[in-house]
Amino acid sequence: MSQDCLFCKIVEGTIPADKVHEDGDVIAFRDIAPQAPVHVLIIPKGAYLSSTEFSQRASDAEIAGFTRAIAEVARREGVAESGYRLIANAGANGHQEVPHFHMHLLGGRRMGRMVQPA
Ligand code: AMP
Repeated sequence: MSQDCLFCKIVEGTIPADKVHEDGDVIAFRDIAPQAPVHVLIIPKGAYLSSTEFSQRASDAEIAGFTRAIAEVARREGVAESGYRLIANAGANGHQEVPHFHMHLLGGRRMGRMVQPA
């Protein structure tokens, strides 16, 4: 794993995270700067740069486990019924800041329009 990858260090346990879920291939932890009452980041343990690379290089088992982990986090966080938003920023135009694929799960309030004016 890259030593420069912040979320790889969370996977390795060398920097702390407020974990809400962990299984063989996935970790979910609270965003350090939450933008909603529920704001959890769900990441594969494998070091994939973005959703593009994850979809190309990850195994079917990793992709299935990741998808199921999203639903599990939504259920545990109590937003499965009320609803939530998933966001995966990718690359420069997607405003991806951390180069390790991650899914934002946001909820606990009405999230408003999906894309705000630039
Ligand atoms: P993105 O712009 O999609 O790459 O989002 C990166 C997210 O990572 C932001 O919402 C940050 O607040 C969050 N973040 C950065 N460092 C940490 C950290 N150490 N623990 C939890 N969340 C973090």
